[in-house]
Amino acid sequence: MIQIDLEAERKEILNRYKRLIKACKRRLEKGDKETIRKAFEVSVEAHKEMRRKSGEPYIYHPIAVAQICAEEIGLGSVGIVCALLHDTVEDTDLTLEDIKGLFGEKVAQIIDGLTKISGVIDNTSSLQAENFRKVLLTLSEDVRVILIKLADRLHNMRTLEHMKRDKQMKIASETLFLYAPLAHRLGLNTIKTELEDLGLKYTDAEAYNDIAEKLRESEPERKKFIQKFIEPLKEILTEQGFKFKLFGRPKSIFSIYNKIKQKKVSFEEIYDLFAIRIVIDTPLEKEKSDCWKVYSIITDFYHPSPERLRDWISTPKSNGYESLHTTVMGPQGKWVEVQIRTSRMDDLAENGYAAHWKYKDSASEKESNLENWLIKIREMLENPDPNALEFIDDFKLNLFSDEMFVFTPKGDMKTLPVKSTALDFAFEIHTKVGEHCIGAKVNHKLVPLSHELKSGDQVEILTSKKQNPKEDWLNYVITAKAKSKIKNSLKEQRKKIAEEGKEVIKRKFERHKLEFNNKTINDFCNYLKLPSSQELYYRVALGNVDVSEIKAFIKYKESPNKKPVKAETHKIEELVTHARGKSDMLVIGDDMQKLDYKLAPCCNPIPGDDVFGFITVGEGIKIHRVNCPNAIKLLSNYAYRVVKAKWTNDELISFLAGIKIAGSDVIGMVNEITKVISSEHNVNMRSINFDTDDGLFEGTVMVYVHDTKHLNHLISNLKKINGVNKVERIDEER
Ligand code: MN
Repeated sequence: MIQIDLEAERKEILNRYKRLIKACKRRLEKGDKETIRKAFEVSVEAHKEMRRKSGEPYIYHPIAVAQICAEEIGLGSVGIVCALLHDTVEDTDLTLEDIKGLFGEKVAQIIDGLTKISGVIDNTSSLQAENFRKVLLTLSEDVRVILIKLADRLHNMRTLEHMKRDKQMKIASETLFLYAPLAHRLGLNTIKTELEDLGLKYTDAEAYNDIAEKLRESEPERKKFIQKFIEPLKEILTEQGFKFKLFGRPKSIFSIYNKIKQKKVSFEEIYDLFAIRIVIDTPLEKEKSDCWKVYSIITDFYHPSPERLRDWISTPKSNGYESLHTTVMGPQGKWVEVQIRTSRMDDLAENGYAAHWKYKDSASEKESNLENWLIKIREMLENPDPNALEFIDDFKLNLFSDEMFVFTPKGDMKTLPVKSTALDFAFEIHTKVGEHCIGAKVNHKLVPLSHELKSGDQVEILTSKKQNPKEDWLNYVITAKAKSKIKNSLKEQRKKIAEEGKEVIKRKFERHKLEFNNKTINDFCNYLKLPSSQELYYRVALGNVDVSEIKAFIKYKESPNKKPVKAETHKIEELVTHARGKSDMLVIGDDMQKLDYKLAPCCNPIPGDDVFGFITVGEGIKIHRVNCPNAIKLLSNYAYRVVKAKWTNDELISFLAGIKIAGSDVIGMVNEITKVISSEHNVNMRSINFDTDDGLFEGTVMVYVHDTKHLNHLISNLKKINGVNKVERIDEER
């Protein structure tokens, strides 16, 4: 047994409290200190019997959370009070009413939000996800709820070593999944980085330790390099009369880890393990011109890479980030990222929301970016989406994505995630504009609604009253807003169609003397293996349920030993019927039955390719190449829907295949290529596209072939052409 020295503990609690008061002293107004003292005492009393997993008194945790709120987020007294009390309602006998009586309405409201969100996040199921949406909705009314929750999570991550392994995994994954992106969006860069690094430490300890170790090993050399890089700059900047700080900033372990994973490079191959940061002291009105002056000084000395200039001073990111980034060629032929900003910008970038309050008067316009983001969250949350898990996915996607700026014809700027399309833009303007969108003019040029926008584009949306959202629109949008609006609209359309279907099936039932009531409809749904009557009505309206099925159902009902038809066999039978009378080249499944199939457009398989079949929901079996880009996903997630497939004979049916050709732009090249293709036996060309640029050409040819033998023959002949360097088969037409 460990003897606990209660007296020493009491002293330590008081010490920690004093440290907290010291951290927030500057911001406290008259009476604030007393309220914080009261909150501290209430919390000590409420948690007095509790201990953390580490064995320490529980009160250390709320004090630490309050400390983070004060020091790292910069919250005022209400935030500190709430942080001290954040676990009381959930974990102790104190009620929300008690809190309200002691500290008033506002504090009670924030504590309520905090209690709800932890109830939601500490369990996992789809229902929780729906709650999560609701909670976030109340959260964005007072952003302090998110901020305190982030501080709470940060402290829990810092002390995660005391938890059991499975708890560690769960908490760390959640942190990476949700809290770090949230911190990022709120501009809390320091907290985001720490959350990510800690998250990685507990989800992939090996990778984390490996990178940490290598960073340590390479540190002396890096320091030397940085020294050499900044020495001459320091001199010139001082000469020019700048007041500045100039230093190297190591990149976080998590960002290095991501780079290794995404770019498939080794640690040694990553050149930007650090960035150089120049922070200048300059009055607000001279910020922009001084930052560019510094840029000019640096690029006089080191040569910049023109593609890597980022100006987030003229257009700050929506989380408020302002800075000028460039990458220059440093000593030893190494690229070095340089960040130029003022101390105000630096404070905002590191401490985000808190710093916004500090500079509120001087930077009210900049702050509206953050407000806009919060408004967007609200919009997203207010849109009810019954599939909450999907919603969280979309939501998260938008938390992570980088932004670009596009303009309306009148010159209003809109912020959208990178890779947004014209259709995303249309929904950003207004739901009705999105729903009726038929295309757009980007920089006065007509483009389809799936057109991917670029930063700086000016976009005019074209609409037609006749237009309505289509199923495939979901593939053309990436913003959570557009996705949920399209889904809603499709659901509405489906409902309307289903209503028509209901009338149709009612008449059909009457004709066959079947009673039209819930029971019969349910039986019929079960018989057809349909999940709901809505689905049945919908299919009826589309003409996918015919009279023969009603007749079969009657027979089945009347048969003495009603044996439920097995779902799988039913499906296969259905497919066999479909396939009858068609020419089939594929043998599918172990039992070698000839079945209906379609060739997947994502990889355009042709006879001779290694293939597999995939049972789709509404379109029979789709055949994919084994090396199709989608194959891994299909095989790993839906193994039960995969059927073996192979080609049987080589009947002369043509298949579309794509070939990419590249080489030097010799005169008559296109002519030469078409000649080779047309002379190839059993090959027909469908389309040909060529781009030339500076003596080089690249082209795509779509051809009809019978099998891989023909295709490979053609490819090897194309390779023989003088000037052709590369010929390869491609998956998709571009
Ligand atoms: Mn807590």
